[in-house]
Amino acid sequence: MMLKFFLLSFTLFLIFLSNTFSCENNSYIENRIEIWKSYYVNTQPTDTARNWYLPFETSNRLNPKTMSVVSTFGSPRNSYVKGHIHTGLDCIPKSSGENVDIYSMSDGIVCSIHLAHPYITIVVKHKTISGEIIFTSYKHLAEVYVKTGDNVNHKTKLARLYTRKETKKYGGRYDHLHLEIRKDFGDYGPASWATMTKEELNCRFYDPLIFIRENVR
Ligand SMILES: [Zn+2]
Repeated sequence: MMLKFFLLSFTLFLIFLSNTFSCENNSYIENRIEIWKSYYVNTQPTDTARNWYLPFETSNRLNPKTMSVVSTFGSPRNSYVKGHIHTGLDCIPKSSGENVDIYSMSDGIVCSIHLAHPYITIVVKHKTISGEIIFTSYKHLAEVYVKTGDNVNHKTKLARLYTRKETKKYGGRYDHLHLEIRKDFGDYGPASWATMTKEELNCRFYDPLIFIRENVR
């Protein structure tokens, strides 16, 4: 009886910790937090994210093999903040036409839309079946079709990617989705381009490829 009570209390304590704990911000992030916080709307998702889908149309949005990987999570980057770590998965549908629409991966609420071309980013907040709050973040969007506070699900068209032709205008290859799965959004955005250590990376982000393999089925 005593043991049961202890285990229950301990579990509740762990849930409490996981809901309140946030990652440490390095000085770059800390100095910019107020800027990015202004784009954030703090509302809670009403629907639980039960089923997860690929973030774009493929021959089967429940089959991870219908997605192509352009660049993996955790690789070193020298763009923008030099030496930062790639916090997302760069991906595209395996076969697609000129236009690629981006959809929410599951039920959630749009909590932030920030940055400008070619880095426009939509962040969706989700409540998982275990009660955990996580975020999916979609970057390099040519056109945005939602606004902060919108409730979304896997059928909601969030945005559209750049075409090969459009991306040339920005002098780089932005015709892919930079997808992040975040455990924490306490930085309000800049951790996406200023995560400098593996500790920061693992505290704040899931490897999207592993997340997809485990949840998109
Ligand atoms: Zn990327």
